[in-house]
Amino acid sequence: MSNWNKRTTAVHGGIRRSQYNEVSEAIFLTQGFVYDTAEAAEARFIETGPDEFIYARYGNPTVSMFESRMAALEGAQDAFATASGMAAINGVLMAGVKSGDHIVAARALFGSCYYILDEVLGNLGVEVSYVEGTDIAAWKTAIRPDTKLVFFESVSNPTLEVIDIAAVADIAHAAGALVVVDNVFATPVGSRAIALGADVVVYSATKHIDGQGRTLGGIILGTKDFIRGTLEPYMKHTGGSMSPFTAWVMVKGLETMELRVRAQAASAMAICEALQGHTALQQVIYPGHAGHPQHPLVQTQMANGGTVISLDLAGGQAAAFAFLNALQIVVISNNLGDAKSIVTHPATTTHQRLPDDKKTSLGITPGLVRISIGIEDTDDLVADILGALAAV
Ligand SMILES: *Cc1c(COP(=O)(O)O)cnc(C)c1O
Repeated sequence: MSNWNKRTTAVHGGIRRSQYNEVSEAIFLTQGFVYDTAEAAEARFIETGPDEFIYARYGNPTVSMFESRMAALEGAQDAFATASGMAAINGVLMAGVKSGDHIVAARALFGSCYYILDEVLGNLGVEVSYVEGTDIAAWKTAIRPDTKLVFFESVSNPTLEVIDIAAVADIAHAAGALVVVDNVFATPVGSRAIALGADVVVYSATKHIDGQGRTLGGIILGTKDFIRGTLEPYMKHTGGSMSPFTAWVMVKGLETMELRVRAQAASAMAICEALQGHTALQQVIYPGHAGHPQHPLVQTQMANGGTVISLDLAGGQAAAFAFLNALQIVVISNNLGDAKSIVTHPATTTHQRLPDDKKTSLGITPGLVRISIGIEDTDDLVADILGALAAV
């Protein structure tokens, strides 16, 4: 298995077959497991073997298939699947630091992360410093000898800035800090996060891994030491584990993920090109395009430009709303990585609660829209987006 290429791993990695030798992965929809004898139960509680289970909150065969397949894809020693992306991030942060520790985080984060960092960890006596993630000198200044963990999204939402994983990891490791990367926008396809120095990689599996908008899930990838020694005790005792049904959806999602993401990224690039110089737009942002300010970094760090483009409409919020309302194929919602194209107006939805000055400093202008490109026909998407811009 270790010499398989990614696409083969995504289809066959981590498979566990029952006595029926089924082709498609089975859903082991069971919370418990029967022991043949009292002695066998005692032995399993003393030491649980790699393919032995006690209780679905601790582990389950279908969930293990998902974890093994993801670990093989990411090039990680081990993985733990969680009930959502936020359960994954909460697990890593809660298990990774203690009272009195210091965290350095990029200031552009998925909204719920501020709650964990500022409210939950803040109340427990953890200090958090925020930096502009693309400013390597700022990381250097902020990371201190007592910094235990650094946390950032490798591609920020919704302005699609790319953070240099290797450069931040070098600085963090010199201080002995754990490097935690939320890699959702980069997608797990061809991820090089661990090779570039990330100690822990987290994904909201809700996004490209499911890829069809059905289930909520997350995954944490890292060393065996971190996953089994540090993280698993926290996750299994606090209840954020993934359900076997969800794991089955995710395993089947992984089979087609590379094909979907490749098609989505190709469409995103075509749309970005079709929109260059459009008079209704102040800015077209797509990491895969040569015009992106960090394009050389994108080429070394990511397998493709991702599946999301952001547009800044010259006419502000009124123009953005008119654009959203004129779209015929692209639906208005807030997921991403889905087979269906989805448009979001961050300033009034996902980032609504941020104060205006913070929105401005994060580049979340009234005219900014984020489009997650789906797997529909590229020409239809280009026509839909150009048509809606004409209506602005
Ligand atoms: C969606 C998302 C999350 C949270 O994941 P859920 O599955 O919704 O809990 C975290 N980080 C990023 C970058 C996301 O896009």
